[in-house]
Amino acid sequence: MTATPYEILRARHAETVAALLPDLIGVVDLPRVQIERVQQARLRDLVRHARELSPFHARRLDVIDAENFALEQLPIMTRSDMMAHYDDLLADRRLTLAEINAHLARLEKGGPGAAPGGDAYLLDQYHAVMSSGSSGLRGVFVYDWDAWAIAYIAYFRMLLRARRREQRFYEEVAAVIGAMNAAHTSTALFQTFSRKVKQVVFSVTAPLEQMVAGLNEAQPTILQGYPSAMALLAREARGGRLHIAPKDICVSAEPLLPEIRDALAEVWHAPVWNAWGTSEAGCMAMSCGQATGMHLSEDLVIVEPVDDEYRPVPPGRRATRVLVTNLFNKGLPLIRYEISDEVTVLDEACPCGSQFLRIADIQGRREEWFRYGDVAVHPVLFRDPLGLTPNVVEYQVLQTARGASIRACIGGSVDFPALAAKIEDSLRAMGVLDPRIEIGEVDALPRGATGKIQRFIPLAR
Ligand SMILES: [Zn+2]
Repeated sequence: MTATPYEILRARHAETVAALLPDLIGVVDLPRVQIERVQQARLRDLVRHARELSPFHARRLDVIDAENFALEQLPIMTRSDMMAHYDDLLADRRLTLAEINAHLARLEKGGPGAAPGGDAYLLDQYHAVMSSGSSGLRGVFVYDWDAWAIAYIAYFRMLLRARRREQRFYEEVAAVIGAMNAAHTSTALFQTFSRKVKQVVFSVTAPLEQMVAGLNEAQPTILQGYPSAMALLAREARGGRLHIAPKDICVSAEPLLPEIRDALAEVWHAPVWNAWGTSEAGCMAMSCGQATGMHLSEDLVIVEPVDDEYRPVPPGRRATRVLVTNLFNKGLPLIRYEISDEVTVLDEACPCGSQFLRIADIQGRREEWFRYGDVAVHPVLFRDPLGLTPNVVEYQVLQTARGASIRACIGGSVDFPALAAKIEDSLRAMGVLDPRIEIGEVDALPRGATGKIQRFIPLAR
């Protein structure tokens, strides 16, 4: 069987997006009772499908009455479970983990007809992506045809809904600053569905001056990328070197810290669109342009916030992990799959009118806590003093035995000794004995394989 050329598949896939789009935008404004009906119907459908086609789930869900069950009765799964039983978890018996890994390796090198890092289909139907995960355990994810289209729509439906409502029309010139490797979800989605709009793409690891020059030339109306990269660009704009006027700013893949959100809004007076994206389930939550925080994509995923003992965590309190059920990707059924993002459900209505539940902007992951003997320190202890120091543009905190070594990009003078003393005081108050903080200035922060900045790096345990 010869493979269909990429461009033919891509054109067909764009038609799938067009067909699915109206319903996926419409659901955002459905009354709560109907949203829940959609969610429950998809859950039942998923469980039926998973039992039928995935041997892994057939074994685990055997005792469940597929027509009449509560989500809490279903077993929890982890990334280790997934990776250990991968072939049995897949719904298509033609696929194997070995085959998917070989495909991912081809993506990195550039296969026939594809540039290095370029996007490609697997069996003319699937997309595969990987994630290094903050836990360090590599994860591999495969999306079926419809799921890939839905994952894409979920990233921009809120923006489209708002622009239609507000009659905000403008020529789209997109600038994307991201990882240049289609083995990662956001890059691959963008390539599959890129349209004939003007766009410029920069690697997040490109020199800043080059990026600034390119952006000055392109004059993008939509700016898209990691919050850490946007923070640097905002500094360049404030310093009079970058002259652009984006109408919408879309960020994902790293926590959007309040100080970055404020800096972007202040410099460009444009709405900031934040997404909670994961390799497991695409865009799980998205902001609506009217308030901070994000709306959960409740028609597409079920997110259960839980504590360390997997007990449900009520709205208003920060959960230490979540259990995610991906309702839209039947190719790789993930049911009550554990993710360590710390999520706080907000118990308040949104001015935009959507009755999708809201969560606060995500600020970090469980793995980012620093432990000093018996004392566990949340990243917020560093984040607040650093974020509240106006000339600190970007930073990275590396745990040391008695404190931390901090790398900072700055946009003006900063009293490092005073800042260090302030953080040492907080650590002392937490019970860390004789804490030591060192802060040093750097031009740029080192980025990981996907181009993301790991902001808090605990000592290996
Ligand atoms: Zn809203």
